[in-house]
Amino acid sequence: MTPLAELLVARIAATGPITVAEYMADCLLHPEHGYYTTRTPFGQKGDFTTAPEISQMFGEMLGLALVQAWMDQGAPAEACLAEIGPGRGTLMADIQRVFAQIPGGPRLRPHLVEASPALRKIQAKVVPDAHWHDSVSDLPEAPLFLVGNEFFDALPIRQFQRTETGWAERMVGVSEGALSLGLGPSDPRPELDARREDTEPGDLVETCAPALPIMTEIAARIARHGGAAILVDYGGWRSLGDTLQAVRNHAPDPVLAHPGQADLTAHVDFEPLTLAASEAGARPARLLSQGVFLEQLGITARAQALAKGLSGAALDSHIAAHRRLTHPDEMGTLFKVLGVSPMDAPPLAGTRP
Ligand code: SAH
Repeated sequence: MTPLAELLVARIAATGPITVAEYMADCLLHPEHGYYTTRTPFGQKGDFTTAPEISQMFGEMLGLALVQAWMDQGAPAEACLAEIGPGRGTLMADIQRVFAQIPGGPRLRPHLVEASPALRKIQAKVVPDAHWHDSVSDLPEAPLFLVGNEFFDALPIRQFQRTETGWAERMVGVSEGALSLGLGPSDPRPELDARREDTEPGDLVETCAPALPIMTEIAARIARHGGAAILVDYGGWRSLGDTLQAVRNHAPDPVLAHPGQADLTAHVDFEPLTLAASEAGARPARLLSQGVFLEQLGITARAQALAKGLSGAALDSHIAAHRRLTHPDEMGTLFKVLGVSPMDAPPLAGTRP
C-alpha cells in the first residue's frame, strides 16, 4: 500500500467513505503525498508525455494563435500572458519565443497559475521571468492571453450512477482493509435533471464543479478586458460513462492501486465549460479536435520547415511527433480545443470556419 493509501484507509475507517472528487484531490495535490506535489510526472522519463513535451511545434502553433489575437485586438502593451497548470513550463517557453519574434513587440511578463510548489521550482528554470499565482482570480486585471493544456482533466470529478429513482454517487470506501469503490444512497439531485434526457438507469455521469468558476473567471476577464484563451484537453461534448483513469510508468493502472504514485485524470466535458464561457459574456469557438486546430494553424508547413535541418533518427522522431500531435489515431481526435475570444473581436485563428 502507498503511504497515501494507508492514510486514506484510516480516515475512511474513522469517518466513512469519501467522494471520487475527494480521492482525486488527495491523490494529485495532497501536501505531502500528492502526485503533483512530490514529483515531475511529465516527459519521456515521467509517467506520461503531454503535447508540449512531444514537440516545440505544439507551443509554436498556440503561440501563433495568441499573437494573432493580440495583434487583432490592437497589440495592447499591458496584456497578461498566462498559463494554467504549466507542468514543466515547456509550453510557456515555446509561446514566449513566438512573441519574441514580433518586431518591436512587447516583452509580456508570463503569469503561471500552479498549485504544486515542486513544479513551480521546475517552471522557474524554464520561464525565469514568471510570476506565480494560486488561482486565475489573482491574475492582473488586463487583456488576458491564456493557454491551458491538460489542466481541466486534473481537476477532481464526482461520479453519479443513474438509478430507477434518482442518482447514487460513486464513493471510495474500505473493504477488507483495502480501498474499494461503491455506491452511496440514491438521491433526486435536481442539478442532474438535464442528464435524464440522454441517460438510462445504470448509466454513469461525471461532474467537475471546480472547473466552472475557473472557466467563468477566464471568460469574464476576456469579455471585460479583451484577450483570448486556448484550452486543450482530452474529452468531448457531454461525456457519458466512467472516464476516471490512472497512468503509471506510461501504462494504465487501476485507479485505486497507487494513490499518490499514479496520475489520475478524467475526460473533460466541454459542454458546461462552453456554456460557462458564453454566460460570462465571451465567445466560445466551436469545439475542434486538436488535429484540425493545429492543421488550420499551419503545423504541416512548420513541420516541413523544421524537417529541412534534420536527418536520420532526429528526422524520424520529428515526423513521428507531427503525426502524434495531429493524427486521428493518436492525439488528433481524442484531444479537443476550446477557443474563447471577446464578442467584438475576430474569432481565434485556427478556429475560423
Ligand atoms: N500543461 C502541462 C501539465 C499538465 S498536468 C503539460 O501539458 O505538460 C496538470 C498541471 O496542472 C500540473 O502543472 C499541475 O500541478 C497543475 N494543477 C493541477 N491542479 C491544479 C489546480 N487546482 N490549480 C493549479 N494548478 C493545478
